[in-house]
Amino acid sequence: MIRVVFLGPPGAGKGTQAVRIAEKYNVPHISTGDILRAAVSEGTELGKLAKSYMDKGELVPDEVIIGIIKERLSQPDVKERGFILDGFPRTLPQAEALDELLSELNMPLDKVIYLNVDDEEIVKRLLSRGRADDTEDVIRKRLEVYRKQTAPLIDYYSEKCLLVEIYGVGDVEEITKKIEEALGLEG
Ligand code: AMP
Repeated sequence: MIRVVFLGPPGAGKGTQAVRIAEKYNVPHISTGDILRAAVSEGTELGKLAKSYMDKGELVPDEVIIGIIKERLSQPDVKERGFILDGFPRTLPQAEALDELLSELNMPLDKVIYLNVDDEEIVKRLLSRGRADDTEDVIRKRLEVYRKQTAPLIDYYSEKCLLVEIYGVGDVEEITKKIEEALGLEG
C-alpha cells in the first residue's frame, strides 16, 4: 500500500518516476494531465473545456479537477492498493480538498515526494519533449503558474511533516531508488 503525492515543476520527471513506482509496486498511477489529455482526444465536454486552459499553460478550474479526483479516488483499486498522484494537487484549494477527501475515505497520505530540478534543466527538458503544450511561450506560462500557484504547496506539506525533497537530475534509476528509500520500500 502506497499513498503518495508527487510534487514538482513541469519537467521534473514526476510522470516518469510515478510510472516506474506504479508498475513495480502495482499501485494506481493517477495523473490529472493524462486524464485531461484523454478527454481532449475523445472530444468530450470535459476535454473541450480543459483544452482551452491547457493550450495556454493555465490551470483547469479547481472544481473541475477536484470532481475528477473525487471520482477516481473512490474506486476500489485505490482502496486496495493506494495511489500515486501525479500533477494533483496544484493549488492550495486542491490540496485542502484532497485532505478533506482522504480523511473522509480514511486514507491518510504517507508522503509527498518533491522532485526538485534546476530551472535551466526544466526548460531544456520541456523543449525536447515535444508535447502539444510544450511550445516556448506555453512553457514559460506553465512555469509561472507553477511558481505562483503550486510552489506554495511545498510549505503546506512541509508544515504537515509529509514532504521529502529529492533532487531530480541524474540517473533515472538512482532517482527511483531515492524515492523508494523515502517511501520505505525494499527497492
Ligand atoms: P501535466 O501533464 O501534469 O503537465 O498537465 C498538463 C496540463 O493539464 C496543465 O498545464 C494544466 O492545464 C492541466 N492540469 C493538469 N493537472 C491539473 C490540476 N491538478 N489542476 C489544474 N490543471 C491541471
